[in-house]
Amino acid sequence: MAHAAPGANTPLLEVEDLHVDFRVRRGLFGAASYTVHAVAGVSFGIERGETLGIVGESGSGKSTLGRALLRLVDAKRGAIRLDGREVRNLTGRMLDFRRDLQVVFQDPQASLNPSMVVADIVGEPLTIHFGLRGAERDSRVAELLGRVGLAHYHLERYPSEFSGGQRQRIAVARALALEPRLIVCDEPVSALDVSTQSQAINLLEELQASFGIAYLFIAHDLAVVRHISHRVGVMYLGRLVELGPVDRVHELPAHPYTEMLLAAAPVADVAAQRRRKAARRQMPATELPSPIAPPPGCPFHTRCTHAMDVCRREMPSPSPVDGGGWVACHLQSAGPRLAGRPLSVEPKRQRPAVSGRT
Ligand code: SF4
Repeated sequence: MAHAAPGANTPLLEVEDLHVDFRVRRGLFGAASYTVHAVAGVSFGIERGETLGIVGESGSGKSTLGRALLRLVDAKRGAIRLDGREVRNLTGRMLDFRRDLQVVFQDPQASLNPSMVVADIVGEPLTIHFGLRGAERDSRVAELLGRVGLAHYHLERYPSEFSGGQRQRIAVARALALEPRLIVCDEPVSALDVSTQSQAINLLEELQASFGIAYLFIAHDLAVVRHISHRVGVMYLGRLVELGPVDRVHELPAHPYTEMLLAAAPVADVAAQRRRKAARRQMPATELPSPIAPPPGCPFHTRCTHAMDVCRREMPSPSPVDGGGWVACHLQSAGPRLAGRPLSVEPKRQRPAVSGRT
């Protein structure tokens, strides 16, 4: 099912100025209502066969962003184009769209129907979207299970009879059944132990190499994101604050929030770990502000050790960064601030030939 590259100059996915708001009720009997700006003007693109990692703390809006792409939540405004088609306007052709864009969630236990056997979980979308039944469907299901490393005898078993890693493989097989162009992976390995995590990541990489699938890989584990991604975007309070090639962002982060995330992440290298600890000690121990009332100006200014007057007044615009990508920070627009201080020395996997957009 290797995908051709229609419209080679058009990115597979284009997201432009996307906004998602939620109304929340608080107070006695929910008397007061507030608007949470969960995604507040996000723009990026994903090329065919590319993995874009999205990182950020809980509450940064990264999972809401993934759900908005899948239309599991409604965007307030902005554009989502898949192969040049505006996804937000699709109505009768929604089935086509759902085939192209699939999802793998964090908790396979919750996302797989416990009363269905694997043959039906993976086979159901084949019947709905391709009209496959009987032996034809069984044979395709068996083929898909083989692709994700499961055996024929697993077909008649229920999700509860599998380990967490095997259940995630079933979820991947179900997503693959529709031959998607893009899979939104929402914390797909967070619930797995470390050895199962690496098996699941290797599986996703193999499938990408075989079928040219693109991934939007949402995770809080920076090491996992670095391993699998070609580029990474950093989200803070519903906004992308930095986006660029994954090695550049990890080794020379341009946004103080990216530095903060990296400083909190463990690394194998002792010297790098020491530098990160020293950097962490300098950072104010403040909480993520409420997305109901984000701070004016740069939303990170309440936690930023570099904050200036302009940061409290004006939202920074994206500026290009040496080494690729961009950052939204007044320090960068005043002139490149990269100190050239490497934060990490872990090796990086070889990238497939993908023309990454920055
Ligand atoms: Fe810090 Fe100002 Fe940059 Fe925001 S714009 S991250 S407050 S230096």
